[in-house]
Amino acid sequence: MSVAPVQSTILSFEDARRVVEKHAAQIQPPATEAVDLLSAAGRVLAEPILADRDFPPFPRSARDGYAVRAADLPQLPARLNLVGEIRAGANPEEIPTNISPGQAASIMTGAPVPDGADCVVMVEYTKRQGDAVEIASGITAGANIVPRGAEARQGSRLLDRGRRLNDAAIALAASVGKSQLNVYARPRVAILATGDELVEIGATPGPTQIRNSNSYSLAVQVREAGGEPILLPIAPDEREALSSLIEQGLQYDLLLITGGVSVGRYDLVEKVLAELQAKFFFTGAQIQPGRPVVFGVCGAGALAREGRQSYFFGLPGNPVSTMVTFELFARPMLEALAGQSPRKLTFFHARLKSEIRVKPGLRRFLPAVVSGEFEHAEVERVAWQGSGDMAATALANCYVVIPPDREHIAAGEWAAVLLR
Ligand code: AMP
Ligand code: MG
Repeated sequence: MSVAPVQSTILSFEDARRVVEKHAAQIQPPATEAVDLLSAAGRVLAEPILADRDFPPFPRSARDGYAVRAADLPQLPARLNLVGEIRAGANPEEIPTNISPGQAASIMTGAPVPDGADCVVMVEYTKRQGDAVEIASGITAGANIVPRGAEARQGSRLLDRGRRLNDAAIALAASVGKSQLNVYARPRVAILATGDELVEIGATPGPTQIRNSNSYSLAVQVREAGGEPILLPIAPDEREALSSLIEQGLQYDLLLITGGVSVGRYDLVEKVLAELQAKFFFTGAQIQPGRPVVFGVCGAGALAREGRQSYFFGLPGNPVSTMVTFELFARPMLEALAGQSPRKLTFFHARLKSEIRVKPGLRRFLPAVVSGEFEHAEVERVAWQGSGDMAATALANCYVVIPPDREHIAAGEWAAVLLR
């Protein structure tokens, strides 16, 4: 079968990212399953979490001190009569229900403020004198009280579906009594390493061979982004075997192919995908590392019979290129397939420790180390031998991002940083 050569579509980083975001926004949420609260950590919420009561359920004291009426403190120090003590969790029948003019109740953090009282004076500003308390410092109405329902009204939405569940979200679900949560099923992501030079990690590589490591970095990234990685066998640089493994990989929710997407004679991935009637959204992005990155959709083989299509990425095989292009392009797609609401790519800023010189024209994502303490974040690129240098990259904790119009960034300048 003769197939027209793949039309080259090289986009700027921003445009390529927009293309991915546009497709990610069209993905339908996956199936749902119920899991125990703690197992839901890291998963994506598939139901809204509603407040089962007002939060807080009573006007809550934010301090240890005395519940008083602000109007009783026109002159200081003021002396108020104590009418009781209110502990957090106290039996409602055993605590004062009302504070009248001239009265105060000793109160603890988290305890309900009785009617009549409109502020809590911190214990630090008071002196206990038997059945009375002397207040030394003035205070305005409302101080140190969180009104009933101020954080959330009963029935209001605390968390939306599509939210990845972290510690705070799990705590919130716990606070409304959810021992189980409905979460989205993890998308299954096929990972296909290509290259005649590759051997599986259990094998001893011959003199010109290397072990397949990209499948493993990708598997970790897939897991971390909320997917379930499925490692396919290594594909040789040979049309038929590659084609059949790609068809196999397309059966999953997403296919990540590494290697074989640059311009070498044995880079067959795009050709084979074209033979499988793939549609390419881009075949490169103006970035380094990772310029030959490919994104498209394909409905070959069994998918065609079901009228389905699967998205794929062709990630350049150099190990750092694979990691960077996953992070920049495959991650948003995978997050969408996992039911997660879209997020923008956010960079942080740190001062450059040593100058960087590059050729302009590409947006660079250079492995770097961010360090420093408190507000003095500094970043320095790690010395590397190029995008094949896994050892240097393993020392890095971020990428320093150089815009395409810059060829020199001086030491001390602010630079954008993408954490890794
Ligand atoms: P390619 O993108 O196929 O031209 O590969 C570029 C470079 O990345 C070559 O030096 C490959 O040996 C290396 N490479 C490709 N695939 C992998 C892999 N799965 N694991 C480790 N290195 C790889
Ligand atoms: Mg190759």
